[in-house]
Amino acid sequence: MIRVIVAGAAGRMGQAVCEAVEGADDTVLAAKADPALGVELADVLGEADVVVDFTTPDTALGNLRACLDAGVSVVVGTTGFDLGAAREAAESAPPGGNCFVAPNFAIGAVLLMEVSQTIARHMPECEIVELHHDRKLDAPSGTAKRTAELIGAAGGNVHEPIHSVRLPGLVAHQEVIFGGEGQTLSLRHDSIDRRSFMPGVLLAVRKVGALPDRFTVGLEGLL
Ligand code: NAP
Repeated sequence: MIRVIVAGAAGRMGQAVCEAVEGADDTVLAAKADPALGVELADVLGEADVVVDFTTPDTALGNLRACLDAGVSVVVGTTGFDLGAAREAAESAPPGGNCFVAPNFAIGAVLLMEVSQTIARHMPECEIVELHHDRKLDAPSGTAKRTAELIGAAGGNVHEPIHSVRLPGLVAHQEVIFGGEGQTLSLRHDSIDRRSFMPGVLLAVRKVGALPDRFTVGLEGLL
């Protein structure tokens, strides 16, 4: 059994992760850390094989460092923090744990990113519209930034700015619109329930400890 601690356990994503960990056959929920529960990650870290972090942009980097310093692997879903600093922290940490970060754990969103790179080679001009619930702290979303990075690397030209829509009623949605001579091509992914992220989170929990690199970004690397 993989012992999992969820950081941000009282949050929207954290609650869904706790349920998923409790529901899987090979994972056990060792502890829940969250200010709302009065439990600090540092106080329970010794009980974990893997920590799953869905906290806030201000907190994720510190949590990730604490995990790696303790030799515990960490799966990070939080967005809006400095990925360069996270990579540095992981690569200079004492041996033991690995760090896996995914801006989006939903298979549909990962496929959208994959297909976007193929399309960009033939229709490079594109725009990204991302739509989220109105309590999301960062903009543009981590998924949109990652999509733009991947499209750019594939030879595409993502027009600035990325468009961010924040409204009640939304969960997590993204559209990439490609435009060419006399035609457009639109891709859209909708996470209409936070359960969409859970198979990806569990996959990362199972694989993070055995990854070849100390720091890995993107669910596509695990599929
Ligand atoms: P949320 O509801 O605000 O939950 C975040 C929780 O983390 C809150 O309960 C917060 O407590 C808690 N927290 C803050 N500092 C902490 C600490 N030091 N240790 C432990 N817990 C701490 O946010 P959410 O909607 O669940 O989203 C969380 C993050 O996941 C966001 O960055 C979001 O963009 C990202 N996300 C990623 C994916 C993906 O697939 N990668 C999907 C959806 C969302 P307080 O309220 O007291 O601060």
